[in-house]
Amino acid sequence: METKLVRMDDEHIDTVLIQEAGNIIKEGGLVAFPTETVYGLGGDALNPRSSEKIYRAKGRPSDNPLIVHIAEMADLDAVVRDVPESAKKLAEAFWPGPLTMILYKSDIVPYETTGGLDTVAVRMPVHRVARELIRAAGGYVAAPSANRSGRPSPTVAKYVTEDMDGRIEMIIDGGDVEIGLESTIVDLTAEEPVILRPGYITKQMLEQILHEVGEDCTMMRDDSGQAPKAPGMKYRHYAPKGDLTIVAGDTKRVIEYINTQTLSYRTNNKKTGVIGTDASVSLYHADVCKSVGNPDDENMIARTLYRILREFDDEHVEIIYAESFDTSGIGQAIMNRLLKAAGHKVVHV
Ligand code: AMP
Ligand code: MG
Repeated sequence: METKLVRMDDEHIDTVLIQEAGNIIKEGGLVAFPTETVYGLGGDALNPRSSEKIYRAKGRPSDNPLIVHIAEMADLDAVVRDVPESAKKLAEAFWPGPLTMILYKSDIVPYETTGGLDTVAVRMPVHRVARELIRAAGGYVAAPSANRSGRPSPTVAKYVTEDMDGRIEMIIDGGDVEIGLESTIVDLTAEEPVILRPGYITKQMLEQILHEVGEDCTMMRDDSGQAPKAPGMKYRHYAPKGDLTIVAGDTKRVIEYINTQTLSYRTNNKKTGVIGTDASVSLYHADVCKSVGNPDDENMIARTLYRILREFDDEHVEIIYAESFDTSGIGQAIMNRLLKAAGHKVVHV
């Protein structure tokens, strides 16, 4: 299949191209597009064959459900059985935006889209290209991240092309994404709302709208002995090809430890890499040292992390050490992804 690559920024929506992309989805094809979180791989959420195509293009296990993207508030009622008061409040506060809600699905949503579950994940993105595309595609677009399963989600179109060229009909390049980590997922089907995946919308922000919000205990640990409630979170994820270890502790000792480790790997002819910050990166001696940005700018770290993980692949780095980051605010989402990318390998020094 030939993949058509088009460029579009949210200031200048090309309505003819958007309609062409919408028609591809309506006819059962797939289009990758920018959102504020990461690039999505979109198909018709109400067409079971489209969802099967998404799983195939991503190489994703089909028990890992897709998020249904909508552009209008009224469309929530069509895909969800009853919209609880909690969902209405959260939608009013955070939609359009990087929040996904898990609710009981209506009959029009096929089980192929929900991975066999009676619940459905729904989000209304804020990115203009995404919203115009959803409208042009008929209103309901199933869209996981546009990466091959297991790899870091694409935050620039170059990495969508790397993973999806020849597998889908169209890629819309909208430049760099704004947030850089996937949406917060909150499950509203139980008595208490529970965060299944941390993101830009934090527990504190949700608790300003709903009083108590819980957290899935598997979010930051892998030793709970329980399966994560978001089926996708059980798979190794976001991983670079190299072997990634997180080093936590006092900064001076972290730097010393990483330098000792990378030196010994280098003597064994392994290509080594380090993920540090603007404050520390010049102090490392590995082959490839990268900064996620200013250590106090969590939004910048979130935006940069996946691109850096991909760059280590581009440069064939085999052994990677990462500093550990503060878990306040969006820091929790950053560490959640980094821990998964490292298969929870953490050294405390
Ligand atoms: P992605 O689309 O790549 O951002 O991944 C979607 C995430 O949402 C995966 O971790 C899924 O397991 C999770 N998810 C989607 N639908 C549901 C659902 N009905 N219940 C729980 N988790 C879900
Ligand atoms: Mg994903």
